[in-house]
Amino acid sequence: MPIRVLDPQVVSRIAAGEVVERPASVVKELVENSLDAGSRQISVEARGGGVNLIRVIDDGSGIPSGEVELAFNRYATSKIDSIGDLESISTLGFRGEALPSIAAVAEVDIVTCALGEEVGTYLSLADGITTKRQNQARPQGTTVTVRNLFRKIPARLKFLKSQATESSHIADIVSMYALAYPEVRFTLVMDGRVALRTAGSGRLIDSVVAVYGLELAQSLLEVGGGGWEGRAASSPGVTGMVSSPSVGRSSRGYLSFFINRRWVNSRLLARAVEEAYHGLLMEGKHPVAIINVSLPPGEVDVNIHPTKAEVKFRNEHVVFAAVQKAVRQALVELMPVPKIEEAATAYVLPSESRQASWTLARSDRLTTSPEARETPSMCLPALRVLGQLLSSYIVAEGPDGLYLIDQHAAHERILFEQICAQRSRQAVEIQGLLQPVTLEVDPKQGEILRAHYKNLGEFGFSIEPFGERTYLVRAVPLLLYSKDWVGMLKELLDSLTGADKTSWAESVAMSLACHGAVRAGQALTDAEMRELARKLEITALPHTCPHGRPITIRLSSGQLEREFGRS
Ligand code: ADP
Ligand code: MG
Repeated sequence: MPIRVLDPQVVSRIAAGEVVERPASVVKELVENSLDAGSRQISVEARGGGVNLIRVIDDGSGIPSGEVELAFNRYATSKIDSIGDLESISTLGFRGEALPSIAAVAEVDIVTCALGEEVGTYLSLADGITTKRQNQARPQGTTVTVRNLFRKIPARLKFLKSQATESSHIADIVSMYALAYPEVRFTLVMDGRVALRTAGSGRLIDSVVAVYGLELAQSLLEVGGGGWEGRAASSPGVTGMVSSPSVGRSSRGYLSFFINRRWVNSRLLARAVEEAYHGLLMEGKHPVAIINVSLPPGEVDVNIHPTKAEVKFRNEHVVFAAVQKAVRQALVELMPVPKIEEAATAYVLPSESRQASWTLARSDRLTTSPEARETPSMCLPALRVLGQLLSSYIVAEGPDGLYLIDQHAAHERILFEQICAQRSRQAVEIQGLLQPVTLEVDPKQGEILRAHYKNLGEFGFSIEPFGERTYLVRAVPLLLYSKDWVGMLKELLDSLTGADKTSWAESVAMSLACHGAVRAGQALTDAEMRELARKLEITALPHTCPHGRPITIRLSSGQLEREFGRS
C-alpha cells in the first residue's frame, strides 16, 4: 500500500483510543469536567457496564451556547491558554481531548446551560459530527449522555471485560473522586441501583464511610490532620487517612492517592506508604490509605500520560519521604514507639553499610521512655492472669475487659525486642558448647552461610568454616541453648535464599525469637504466665508479633454485657 495521510475520522478514532480505553475512562473524563466546572452535585448513571449508557449530570458553570460545538473540537479547552499555563495547571482537564474523543467512539448528546443564560442548549453528535441542535430548558449545569460506546469499533468491544468488571471500574473511579471531593454530593446509579451516595458535607470521613463503610472508617487514623483542608502548612503537604496496623487488607486495592486532589496511580507513593508500615503489618497484608499530596503545580507534571493517571514529580524523593514520614507519624502517635522510624529504616539498609544496618531497634530504651507510657492507645494495661486455655492462650483480666494472649506470639515479641536490644548493646548472652558441633549444610545454604557466618557472631553464634560444606559451631545464644538451634539455623538459611525484602539482621532476630519462644500446646505454670504477661506489657509493640500477627484479643466489658443481654 502506498503511503497516505489518514482520513481525519480515522485519525480521531485512533487518538480517542488513547483517552477512552474503557467505559470507566469516559466516566473519569466527564466527572473531571464537572469538577472543573465547580459543581456541588454530580450524579453518574451507567447501564450495561457503561457500554449501553453513561450519563453525568452536574450543576456546574455550564457551557455558553455559542461554545458548545467548539467544546467537541480537538484541543478546544477553556482551561489553558498558552504554553506557560502548562507549568501551573490547577484544573483536572486541560488537553481539550475528552469530549471529541468520546464523541469519536460513541453517540453523545449534551444539554447545558451557562450562568446568566436564559435557556439551555441541546446538541446531539454521531461519529463526532453534530446531527441536531436546539434550545432546551435546563437549570444551570451540564448533562452529558454517552450511548453505545465502541459500537462501531468491534475490536475495542471485544477487549472489554465482563459487564460486572467494567461496572466495578466505574464504581471505583467515582469512589475515588467522591473521596477526593467530600464537599461535592456524588450519586452513582448502576443499572437502576444506587451504588454510592455521598453527603457533600466537606468532611473526608463522611466520604470514607460512604465508600468503605462505617466499620473500616472507624479503624482509620488521621494523617496530617485528616481532612483535605488545613493543607499546605508545609510543602509537600500530606493529609488523609490510613488504617491501623491491625486492619490489613489482602490487596493493594485500598491504596488511593491524589495529587492536588487529582486521583493518580503511583507506585512511588504506594511504596512510601508500605514502608511506613514496615514491620507492623502481617506479611502479605496491605494497608488502607487515602492520601492527598498538595504541591505547587510547578512541582508536578501531569502531562506525561493521555489520561493523566500517572504523574511525574520534579523532586521524587522529597515527595516519597514526606508521605512515608506523615504516615509513619500517624502510626507512631497511635503506638508508643517514639523511635520506631529509626529502627525500621535501619532494617532495610543494604548490608554494605554494616554499621548502620546492624543497628536494630533499641527497644529496651524505648519502652521505658516516658513518652511511651503517656500514649495509652496501644499500650497494654496491667493484666491479672486467670489461667491457660488449650495450653496455648493465656486468659487475663484487664481494667477494660478480658484478654486472650497467644503465648507463642507474645513470647516471640518479647524475645525479638530483647534480642535487638542486646545486640545493639553488644551484650548478647552466649552459651559455649562443651564440644563443638559440626553443622552440615547443602550447597545453597552453604552460599548464604559463607557470606554471613561472621555476622551471626553478633547474635551469639560462634561458627567457623571446617571444609567445603561443613562448619563448626562453638557457641550459641543462651536463649537457644536447650532448643533445636541446628534446625533454626537451617531454616534461617533456607528462608534467606529466596529474594526477601526484610533485611538479614531482622530475619535473624525474628528467627531466633520464633525458635526461642514457648510453643503453642506447652503447659505453663502460673508464675510463667505472669512473667510473660508482665514482660509483654512493657514491650514497645505489644499487639503484634514480629511477623505482624496479632498477639492479643480483647473482649471489652461492654461486649460482654451486650452478649449477656445486660445493655
Ligand atoms: P478539557 O477538560 O481538557 O478542557 P474537554 O474536552 O474535556 O477538555 O472539555 C472541553 C471544554 O468543554 C472544557 O474546557 C470546558 O470549557 C467545557 N466543558 C466540558 N464539560 C463541561 C461541564 N460539565 N461543565 C462546564 N463546562 C464543560
Ligand atoms: Mg476534560
